[in-house]
Amino acid sequence: MAEKRDYYEVLGVDRNASADEIKKAYRKLAIKYHPDKNPGDKEAEEKFKEAAEAYSVLSDQEKRARYDQYGHSAVEGSGPDFSGGFGDINDFLNTIFGSAFGGGFSGFGGGFSGFGGGRQQRVYKGRDIRVRVKLTLEEIAKGASKEVSIEKYVPCPDCAGKGAKNSSDIKTCPACKGTGQVSRVTSTFLGQSVSYSTCQQCGGEGRIINNPCHTCSGSGLVRKRVSVTVNIPAGVEAGMQMKLTGEGHAAKNNGINGDLLVVIDEEQHPDFRRDGADLYYTKVVSIPEAILGTEFEIAGIDGPVKVKIEPGTQSGTELKFRGRGLPMLNSYGKGDLYVTIGVWVPKKLSRSEKEIFESLQKSDSFKPSQEKEEKGFFDRLKEHFR
Ligand SMILES: [Zn+2]
Ligand SMILES: [Zn+2]
Repeated sequence: MAEKRDYYEVLGVDRNASADEIKKAYRKLAIKYHPDKNPGDKEAEEKFKEAAEAYSVLSDQEKRARYDQYGHSAVEGSGPDFSGGFGDINDFLNTIFGSAFGGGFSGFGGGFSGFGGGRQQRVYKGRDIRVRVKLTLEEIAKGASKEVSIEKYVPCPDCAGKGAKNSSDIKTCPACKGTGQVSRVTSTFLGQSVSYSTCQQCGGEGRIINNPCHTCSGSGLVRKRVSVTVNIPAGVEAGMQMKLTGEGHAAKNNGINGDLLVVIDEEQHPDFRRDGADLYYTKVVSIPEAILGTEFEIAGIDGPVKVKIEPGTQSGTELKFRGRGLPMLNSYGKGDLYVTIGVWVPKKLSRSEKEIFESLQKSDSFKPSQEKEEKGFFDRLKEHFR
């Protein structure tokens, strides 16, 4: 076997090229050497496979690092497996570049979907857009309406997405009669097969534009920054994803819009810890307060919560406030609020204070009780401070 070429050389990129540059370079080569465009051309097949292998390695951070350090031997067998035929090639390319996206990528998708025998008009699907929205716990408790600003492809306003100002400038492609595909016998490294492939004359568009719209260069799409209002229901959690159908990128040829995917992020709350719909809060009281009992108010997530500490409250005591947690998503239920009582022990005492505690030390009331009814307390304490 011939000496393998350097992967960076294969893709024609710099050794410190970014992931994006690598992807762009590979895309160019994949289109140029695609077996569908070069039937029977052995050299193109080799170049196509070589580029796919180089991309497989350089697009994978870990493999790329190993390759940089040790060369080809460290990443052997990394090339994609195309033994399953056109379906494999199609899957491989679609995984990298997305399904036939209206933003100028033509050549894949349409041509290969015809492999199964279909000759239907190509329908484009716009890409999805993913945005993250960060919410405070207060917003999660109430539900929130958030404005997100996104840049997306929209139908060109000057040609109404048609690609030309005058409809008469748009002709159905005579070579494929508008299907964007032509059938033929191809001879590739996979053997002989009858396949449908992308029409060369129209690039798979199914139409030819004589006088393309200047604004969008005939693509029918322009980029635009838009503001979308997202209504987020109460009770959501970090990592959840909302789908706004059709709010993603527009597609060519009046295809189907992509979706807007809104991923929920949560801001850490200074006072509350969250577990599902339940909230946890820790309140520290003084030794006299724990002994004599006290009352205070905490700022709950849904308004003030009155907390009463009985005389003789142990450190680690957990008080439950039913229904004072967060609303449950898509239900009328609410979680609970748990307030854990901690007792503050001072480090420094004045002489007179110290004397008081020294006299109390001898008192039986201050000896930790290990009686049966107190057993639960020590278990809880261990649990709490574990
Ligand atoms: Zn055509
Ligand atoms: Zn236009």
